[in-house]
Amino acid sequence: MAIDKLDPVRLLADLISIDSVNPDLVPGGAGEAVIAGFCGDWLAARGFEVHRLERRPGRPSVVAVARGTGGGRSLMLNGHLDTVSRAGYDGDPLGPRIHDGKIFGRGAFDMKSGIAAMMTATARARERGPLRGDVLVACVADEEHASFGTEEVLESFTADAAIVTEPSHLEVTLAHKGFAWFEVVIEGRAAHGSRPELGIDAIAKAGHFLVALETWGHRLAQASPHPLLGAGTVHASVIHGGEEPSTYPARCRITIERRTVPGESAEDVQVELTAILDDLTDTVPDFHYRLHRGLHREPFEADRQAPIVHTLLRHAESALGRPPVIRAEPFWTDCALLDAAGIPCLLFGVDGGGAHAATEWADIAALHRLTDVLTDTISDFCA
Ligand SMILES: [Zn+2]
Repeated sequence: MAIDKLDPVRLLADLISIDSVNPDLVPGGAGEAVIAGFCGDWLAARGFEVHRLERRPGRPSVVAVARGTGGGRSLMLNGHLDTVSRAGYDGDPLGPRIHDGKIFGRGAFDMKSGIAAMMTATARARERGPLRGDVLVACVADEEHASFGTEEVLESFTADAAIVTEPSHLEVTLAHKGFAWFEVVIEGRAAHGSRPELGIDAIAKAGHFLVALETWGHRLAQASPHPLLGAGTVHASVIHGGEEPSTYPARCRITIERRTVPGESAEDVQVELTAILDDLTDTVPDFHYRLHRGLHREPFEADRQAPIVHTLLRHAESALGRPPVIRAEPFWTDCALLDAAGIPCLLFGVDGGGAHAATEWADIAALHRLTDVLTDTISDFCA
């Protein structure tokens, strides 16, 4: 029997009012402890088996499992609990406000609406009758920074498919870009500025690399594009070098970012970059470098034939009254981690706007529609 009407708008308002700013983004941020506790209690009260994962104190993720009767397919719904900063928000970021068919507040769009929809949908699907497959509701920490929440969840849980409920305007995201960061250190030789015969100017040598980087970018732009994502890109992000006016700089450090499309791995990118740097070593006198690979995250592309893709597209089409728009994102999401763990997945979420901006909202009709599509998809997939 229902404990309440399972209204996703009411649940979203409760979630908005709980501060969950990511403390790795904003020192002193509240983290996920309170909101994870709230979600865990809400789901436990509805008969879910609740697991709290908290390797990093104060940064928990919650996985709530609705056990099936056996023999069916399991489905994981995944959403992040953390938000970006409340500073700079126009009005009260923790005071949910409803106006003109929209609900406003920090995280309303990115992505407490997705959390509210997936919790409500799973509870509703269970009320319809017993499911054979397990449904896992993963409310994770830290997506806005390093995604250790989903990584921690995947160490202990798996499923036959997953849906990430990040906001997507009720369109279906089947691909997104990845990224790889590198630090290139160009080595020169320090000497007094009056002694050119002794010094090697690392900053001037780095100039050769920056020109080659721009050429690399042009080459990428001309390569045959990915049908949803276009071409990969590269840009310089940070540069440091030199000590004072009258010294030849011994070192210049350049951080670059390469945004990748499906089919390009961080390993591939490192090979490309090494070839460029080796060519400079061969052609530019006194060019010496060291290369360090930093954080990288792989791109994502769903298998269009995966059963979860078919099931969700069918229910989205019947809710929308037309085939849903298929989209791809330039930014990275937790889909890539789920996919790499062997869990076919896609991304489908609410309409609205203002992610990370001064005013943020979710469209209330879209939240209801999202909840309906998720409910039908769960009932169908896990039947
Ligand atoms: Zn998000």
